[in-house]
Amino acid sequence: MEITTYIDNKMLAPSITQISPSSLILFNICPNQYKKMYILREKTETEKGIAAYNGNAIHETIQRFYMREKFDIKSLFEDWEYILKKTVHNSGLTVSQKQFNTILKDGVKTLQAFYDVQKERSLLVKPIDVELELRTLYKGIILTSRIDLIIKNKKENIEVIDFKTNWKAKTQNEVDSDLQGLMCAWNYKQFSGKDPYKVVFHFVKTKERVVMNELKYEILFRAIDKLLTAEKNNRFPATPGNCDFCQYKKSCVAYTKKRKFYCKFT
Ligand code: SF4
Repeated sequence: MEITTYIDNKMLAPSITQISPSSLILFNICPNQYKKMYILREKTETEKGIAAYNGNAIHETIQRFYMREKFDIKSLFEDWEYILKKTVHNSGLTVSQKQFNTILKDGVKTLQAFYDVQKERSLLVKPIDVELELRTLYKGIILTSRIDLIIKNKKENIEVIDFKTNWKAKTQNEVDSDLQGLMCAWNYKQFSGKDPYKVVFHFVKTKERVVMNELKYEILFRAIDKLLTAEKNNRFPATPGNCDFCQYKKSCVAYTKKRKFYCKFT
């Protein structure tokens, strides 16, 4: 099956907003954080440690692996070492040999786990596509998504797979309403004419695969419509709750006030 990226050039006016799964997820977490990142494009000086690059490096290694003719584990580990060195070099961070070896070892363990699961499920075969970027239109808005892997399983059914490097797998309920999974499935459907047989979240570190039970597209479009209404009314309230990883917390009044409130009673 051939899938090509589609953009209707007529619709590419400057006013068109693009929505990606990560921007939509961020809006759901905190509209104010979304506004700072995607509308105001505020920069912060948050320093990233090498761990922040780790997930991308694992993804890149898996992508490279699936572009090979043969799927041998030795090449997988060699690619990992090469990509990790390149990532460290490009990040400009100073990483000691000891730190590098620890990350290298952890990645080998993760990739071994990934390989074992793919082998057990007979998914070490030439894929339909890898890291496929798809764009579709909804109410004149471009919906962008990237699919890690599209593959035919041994029963010749299409699986859309998203690799996750979290230490803990998501629950079935979380997966069933996952905006990224829904947007990937929706975009895939627009190109192929039908839903993928399976949308799988493969948690490589824990060896768990959680399959979306049902593709509830209404959840996706409800979230998109909410974002579009917020943009129309320019209403992006700060919603403290998941502030720990927010790069804007130092300058966020809602966060600072909340901290003071907690301090008063602790
Ligand atoms: S610190 Fe919390 S409330 Fe403030 S923008 Fe970030 S996530 Fe939102």
